[in-house]
Amino acid sequence: MTKKITVIRGDGIGPEIMDATLHVLEALGAGLSYEEVDAGLVALEKHGELLPQATLDSIRRNGVALKSPLTTPVGEGFSSINVALRRHFDLYANVRPAKSFPNTRSRFPSGVDLITVRENTEGAYIGEGQAISEDGEVATLTQKITRKGSERIVRYAFDLARATGRKKVTAVHKANILKTTSGLFLKVAREVATQYPEIEFNEMIVDNTCMQLVMRPEQFDIIVTTNLFGDIISDLCAGLVGGLGLAPGANIGKDAAIFEAVHGSAPDIAGKGIANPCALLLGAAQMLDHIGQPQNAERLRKAIIATLEARDSLTPDLGGTGTTMGFAKAIASRV
Ligand code: NAD
Repeated sequence: MTKKITVIRGDGIGPEIMDATLHVLEALGAGLSYEEVDAGLVALEKHGELLPQATLDSIRRNGVALKSPLTTPVGEGFSSINVALRRHFDLYANVRPAKSFPNTRSRFPSGVDLITVRENTEGAYIGEGQAISEDGEVATLTQKITRKGSERIVRYAFDLARATGRKKVTAVHKANILKTTSGLFLKVAREVATQYPEIEFNEMIVDNTCMQLVMRPEQFDIIVTTNLFGDIISDLCAGLVGGLGLAPGANIGKDAAIFEAVHGSAPDIAGKGIANPCALLLGAAQMLDHIGQPQNAERLRKAIIATLEARDSLTPDLGGTGTTMGFAKAIASRV
């Protein structure tokens, strides 16, 4: 039976990298069918809103979406569509793999293979208690961490380790200073860890983690952390392995999951056919894992690596002169 996926082609380079990705998925024979819906600028032009109800309904129905980047118009009244999607579907786990690939402009062309699991619904980014005094001299913000929120994200990280044969989970925190919030997260992480005795658990303070990541990234396997630390660390990890063109991400909840590239709609190169499709392709590989096709996910990742190794049709950001579709065809020929 074919699995139906909601597809959002998005803005800027979105349609180009989505065409490329669907071409490779076709070559994989993953048995998917697609329901295309709109979001972002395209949706605003066609339907008068950035995130139409039909789009939300489609994601709810199918439970899985593959999404290209969306442009959030600059100006009053437009909040991020990505944040809106996260809230609407309670997508609590932001899962961002960072893996070394050959022939990229990375400081670590080998040795890095880690996943950051970031809590997506609590902590410093929820905007609760944001205030600034009338004289503009004092600003405040409330951070809320809950046992429930901490438990489900740490459990997610350990279950992911189990499912993918990974060996170690590192809880990243600042419990020495943020004794209540980060302290609760760490306490819950320790408790959950006892239920996964076969997986090594360790804890690391966030500032030390940043230094360790830059000096010895190979020591990490899965990192689990709260919202703000996860945001920073996952971008740091993307930088370790060659930047935005190779960084995928998944936003996962109980009833829905959305897979995407980490980068934006790249208006500076939109329409030129030179965008690197790898980040969205790697997002598609995460999606294949999620829907129970790990072998196809692995075939896809191996084909990407082989194409990079051969320097076949690489796009300009990787030092080549290839096109988005040319690169995709080179990958498709290796799946
Ligand atoms: P961006 O990621 O779009 O671009 C940053 C730089 O990286 C640009 O020079 C761009 O050309 C390059 N780049 C990005 N992706 C690339 C690719 N696949 N291949 C080659 N080069 C690539 O960031 P930005 O310019 O700050 O944002 C542009 C728009 O994207 C904004 O409207 C922003 O809101 C939106 N955005 C959306 C998402 C999302 O939907 N997930 C994420 C980030 C930004």
